[in-house]
Formats: sequence, structure tokens, C-alpha cells
Amino acid sequence: MIEVHDLHKHFGDLKVLKGISTTVEPSEVVCVIGPSGSGKSTFLRCLNLLEMPTSGQISVEGEVITDPSVDINKIREEVGMVFQRFNLFPHMSALKNVALAPIRVRGLSEDEANDRAMNLLRKVGLVDKADVRPGALSGGQQQRVAIARALAMQPKVMLFDEPTSALDPEMVGEVLNVMKDLAKEGMTMVVVTHEMGFAREVADRVLFMDEGVSSKRVSLKIFSLMLSMRGQDHF
Ligand code: ADP
Ligand code: MG
Repeated sequence: MIEVHDLHKHFGDLKVLKGISTTVEPSEVVCVIGPSGSGKSTFLRCLNLLEMPTSGQISVEGEVITDPSVDINKIREEVGMVFQRFNLFPHMSALKNVALAPIRVRGLSEDEANDRAMNLLRKVGLVDKADVRPGALSGGQQQRVAIARALAMQPKVMLFDEPTSALDPEMVGEVLNVMKDLAKEGMTMVVVTHEMGFAREVADRVLFMDEGVSSKRVSLKIFSLMLSMRGQDHF
């Protein structure tokens, strides 16, 4: 589904990514783990061209998205992203937040888009909040709306950048559960997270980022062993 070959990203003199190569298979869930500042967000942002790689090649379902001739907007539609901060439109209901892009970008009728949005709100357990604005929702509820909004574009891949880091602890579980359901349905996902329990339970693979390079694939068995040796679930 995704192939990354020798990806480099520099910001001026700062070399953040120094040759990342990896592949993500269809329906695979890859968790990206590493210290703060190691380039995890930059890596995700390169995968949907929110950042332009300095060099290297990325392809999504066989399409080389780092090719200069590629339509960046189309790639961003195919690769959904959920951020630490939810960035919902504050003046719109949850339903409108989810329905907007399919109407504007995909040309769905309002009825079609609202139907799709209702189904997605049901999926994330928020059908009763369809008419509520983000300000009246908890952080966990807002993040679930943000996930529904990304899914409304029917992406091939979903990227999550620390989706639970800004949440109060009691709301982390409800968001992780939505992500677990997505994984079970076969969504291809790349998830930057500090939630070690989630990584152990859901990830097919863990990618460790450090100093701009990724370690070789670490099998979950070894990862679980490392965790049990540390005796904790949360770094
Ligand atoms: P992580 O998500 O692992 O914490 P980031 O990818 O956010 O790391 O950042 C990696 C490094 O790149 C940091 O040193 C950060 O300051 C730097 N960086 C990220 N984005 C930019 C940018 N747009 N301009 C300059 N430096 C940046
Ligand atoms: Mg980050």
C-alpha cells in the first residue's frame, strides 16, 4: 500500500529524516514510536505531502506521489490524517464537519454527504451528537468526530499523529477503541503513538525512529518482550 525508499527531509541545515525506507502492506497497522523531535510527525506529513520530501521516493498503491507531476490535493484526499489537535470547524455541527469535504471536494449532494456523515458518526458512537458544535463536545468526542471527518473522504490509508496525546486520560480509551475497530475492518493505518498497550495489541509492526533513521522492522514478539522487561506500558 505504501512504499518509502530512502526518504530524506531537511529544514535548512537541520536534517530530520536521513534515509527512511519501509513498506506498509494493505490492512497493516504500523505504529511509529520514538523520542520527541525524532521526526515522527515529519515522516507522517511526508506521507500525505503536507511536507515535501527533500529526496527519496514514496508511492501509495503504486502511484509515485513524490513525482513532481502528481496532484498534491488528490493525494491528500486519498491519505487521511488525524492530528493531536482536532481542528474541527467551531461554527459547524459535528455532522457538517464530517459532511463538508465530501460535498466540496467530491461533489456529493448534501443528502448523500449527510447520509454518509450520519453513518460515520454512528460508527464512532456519536450519532446523538450530530447537531452539536465542537465546543459542546469533550476532547474525546471531538477527536472521534475528526476521525469520522477523515473517513468521510474514503481514504486508502489513515495516518494518526499522536491522536490521544492532547486528551484527558479518561478519554483516551474511547478514541483508541474507534481506532481498534478501524484496524479490525482492515484499514491500513500508520499511527504515531506513545500508547504502548495499543501498539502491542493492534500493531502488526512497530517502527522505531531515532536520529532520523528507522530501525529495521521489529517483530511484535520482540517488542512485547522489551516492554515486559521495562515492566511498563507507557514510555
Ligand atoms: P516528532 O514528531 O518526532 O516529535 P517532528 O517531526 O515534529 O518530531 O520534528 C523533528 C525535528 O524537525 C524537530 O527538531 C523540529 O523542530 C524540526 N521541524 C519540524 N518541522 C519543522 C519546520 N516546518 N521547520 C523547521 N524545523 C522543523
Ligand atoms: Mg510529533
